[in-house]
Amino acid sequence: MNRRQKLGQIGAAPTDEQWAVISERRPRPGTAWLLVVTSTGIACLPGCPARTPGRDRVRIVANLAEALDAGARPCLRCHPERRGAAGRADGGPAVIGPGVTGGDTVEATVARLTAAFASGDEIPVDRELAAAAGLSERRLREIFRERLGVTPRGWVSARRSERLRAHLADGREVLGALFDAGYGSASAAYEAAGGDLGMAPGRYRIGGAGERIRWTVTPIPEGVALVAATDRGLCAVRLGREPTALELELRAEFPRAAVTRDDSGMAEMAALVSDLAVGRPRPEVSGLPLDVHATAFRRQVWEALRRIPAGETRSYGQVAAAIGAPKAARAVGAACAANPVAVVVPCHRVVASDGSLHGYAYGLARKRQLLDAERATAKSAGAPERPRATSPR
Ligand SMILES: [Zn+2]
Repeated sequence: MNRRQKLGQIGAAPTDEQWAVISERRPRPGTAWLLVVTSTGIACLPGCPARTPGRDRVRIVANLAEALDAGARPCLRCHPERRGAAGRADGGPAVIGPGVTGGDTVEATVARLTAAFASGDEIPVDRELAAAAGLSERRLREIFRERLGVTPRGWVSARRSERLRAHLADGREVLGALFDAGYGSASAAYEAAGGDLGMAPGRYRIGGAGERIRWTVTPIPEGVALVAATDRGLCAVRLGREPTALELELRAEFPRAAVTRDDSGMAEMAALVSDLAVGRPRPEVSGLPLDVHATAFRRQVWEALRRIPAGETRSYGQVAAAIGAPKAARAVGAACAANPVAVVVPCHRVVASDGSLHGYAYGLARKRQLLDAERATAKSAGAPERPRATSPR
C-alpha cells in the first residue's frame, strides 16, 4: 500500500455536515477534527484558506497524530500543529507553560528541523533544540507529543521515511535512496530502525507482475546467499549452496516479474547480507527497506525479530508476548518459517523456550553457525550493540 492508499483508508469520509464546514471554509468553534487530503497528503484544519479539494479526496481524522501516523504533513497555510492540544479550533495559540506558547515553540523547532533537512545540514539533537527554545529536553518532547503526536526525533524520522518513499517511488536504487534520504550515518539508520520505514507494506503484486526484480549472489560460510530487491526494497534473501538453484527458486516465487541479475547494482546490499551471515550486522541493516508480502500479524512478528539484538535470542513465546499476543507462540513459529528475507529478518534468533534451537528453514546447522558467529562478535565487542528505542509516533 503506498502513502496515498494508506491515507485513503484513515479516518472516515466527511459527513454532509463536515463537508459543509470544509467547502464553506467556515471553522466552527469546538470543531476538533481535521481533514486529510489524500491526493496531496496534507492535513488541514476545517476552514483552511487553501483551495477546497474534491470531496472524494477528503478523509476526516480525530487528531493530527492520526494524520501524521499515516504519513500526512501539517498544512503550511492553516497550521494544524498550532492548534491547542485540547483541540481548540480558533487557531489561537494555547498557553501550555509559564510564558510559553507551545504552538510557537513547535513551529520554530519544526522550522529549524525543516531548514536543516533541506540544506542537508546535520539535524540538531534534542538538547540543541531545547536550548534554543529555552526549555528542558523533556518539556520540549512533551510539547511536541501534545501538538504533533510525535517527539522531535519522531518527526525527523517520519520526514526521512517520507523522503525515502518518494525516492523509492522514483525507482532509484534502494541503498542509494537510503543514503539520499538522510540515513547517511550508521547511527541515523539505527535510530530509524523499527519505524514504518523498515517494513514498508510493499505494493506487492501476485507473482510480481509488473515488478522489476534485481538479484545477485554473495558468498557466505558454507554456501551462498541470493539477495534480491524490487525498486522499493529487499524482497528475498535465500541461503543455499547452489546459485542456480536459488535463482530458480526466486523465479518460481516471482514468475511474472522481470528478474535480472545485477551484481554491481546489488553489491552494497549483498555486502550487508554477507556481513550478517558472519555475525557482524552493520547498523544500516536495521534501516534497510523491505518489500515483502505479509499479513499484518507476520509483519508485526518480523518487525519484532528485527529488534532482537545480534548475539541474543528470544523464545517464540517471548516474541509473541512482545507483540501483545502472548498466546500466539505457534503463529510466531509459522511467521518465522515464512520469513522471505533470511538473516535480514533474523528469525534465527528465535529458539524454543528451553533454549534449544528448534526449526530453521535452512537447517539447524546453519542456525547454530549464525548464532555462534553473532555471539562471538557480541562477546568480543563487550555488550551487544543495541538500537536505541524508537520514539513513539
Ligand atoms: Zn490547510
